[in-house]
Amino acid sequence: MAPITVNEQGYYGEFGGAFIPEMLHPNVEELRQKYLDLSSQPDFQREFQHLLRDYVGRPTPLYLAKRLSEYYGTTIYLKREDLCHTGAHKINNTIGQILLAKRLGKTRIIAETGAGQHGVATATVCALMGIQCIVYMGEVDIKRQAPNVARMRMLGAEVRPATSGSKTLKDATNEAIRDWINNPVDTHYIIGSVVGPHPYPDMVARFQSVISEEIMWQLEEHTGKKYPDAVIACVGGGSNAAGAFYHYLNEEKVRLIAVEAAGEGIHSGKSAATSVLGTKGVIHGSRTLLMQTEDGQIVEPHSISAGLDYPGIGPMHAHLISTGRAEAISITDEEALEAAVLVSRREGIIPALETAHAFAALKYMQYKPSDILVFCLSGRGDKDLDTYMKHL
Ligand SMILES: *Cc1c(COP(=O)(O)O)cnc(C)c1O
Repeated sequence: MAPITVNEQGYYGEFGGAFIPEMLHPNVEELRQKYLDLSSQPDFQREFQHLLRDYVGRPTPLYLAKRLSEYYGTTIYLKREDLCHTGAHKINNTIGQILLAKRLGKTRIIAETGAGQHGVATATVCALMGIQCIVYMGEVDIKRQAPNVARMRMLGAEVRPATSGSKTLKDATNEAIRDWINNPVDTHYIIGSVVGPHPYPDMVARFQSVISEEIMWQLEEHTGKKYPDAVIACVGGGSNAAGAFYHYLNEEKVRLIAVEAAGEGIHSGKSAATSVLGTKGVIHGSRTLLMQTEDGQIVEPHSISAGLDYPGIGPMHAHLISTGRAEAISITDEEALEAAVLVSRREGIIPALETAHAFAALKYMQYKPSDILVFCLSGRGDKDLDTYMKHL
């Protein structure tokens, strides 16, 4: 099989590309021409590695979850992205992009956020670098996610409400794009997942690939083997999964399992199971699988976890799933809540609701007692405690 990677035009097979308004072309083209060169320079790598270690807290542990392994009758390792500064994997990407923005001479950062997790990770690195930060967020989400709005403001970011349409993530994205068109010279747009026009999906996957780079040597230390039998991760846009899969993409003996949110049930009308319900189309600048009506209107997704509540999936994942390289499993709100309680009580680790979906996939997976399974524990669950308490 041909190696799985992005081509010059930004495609993974038939998915990807850069479908953008003409007025965004200069910004995206500048990034496309420079991202690989700049991020591979020794001074970039030195600063990136230094910040990942001393600021983010990497390497994050690869932890043998003994009581969870015992419960499921197999061997389970947890890649502890929940121990990253700010509580999730998103900071790996925002650190990479802020270093790139500085080298591109940008003095102003914009981002959009739904649940606020990416907004917080962006506000954090802007504070770290002393760069102006504007985060667009739907008016409805600002009300729903008050603690994260407070964190962003505490960090010095300006949170601008998007007041059009459904006043949620897609409206915030539209506002951010409008801003970028109006401020092409001094502004960099930090996208938070492996979505958007090329080069974003590849760039974000590379910054997150530190996750699987570490898994490889850590697993070898633990077990003498670099290759697990399966890597399992939840998928919203797909950045923690892309990072956890990255160095295993071309190792076909490693199963890659992408877990999406089925909401109240795949066919309930309240779901975010893009790999099952999605059809080919363009969303946020790339050709991928997305949930849309017959005439191409985006269907509002639903998931109990705000981080998985996205109507599309990154083009790399659309490619992996449609070619059969990755398996997709859909998990309901209820199943995710149960898994969150189980992991909390078996391991003393309260996972994010997003991550809980990955654990719930175990009941639909085939595995052997001798298998080694690695879960990407994408984030910690403090932010979800209200939801968990309602469920208990
Ligand atoms: C944002 C988020 C996700 C979903 O985003 P991906 O890009 O799919 O990784 C998953 N887990 C946590 C903890 C998050 O904050």
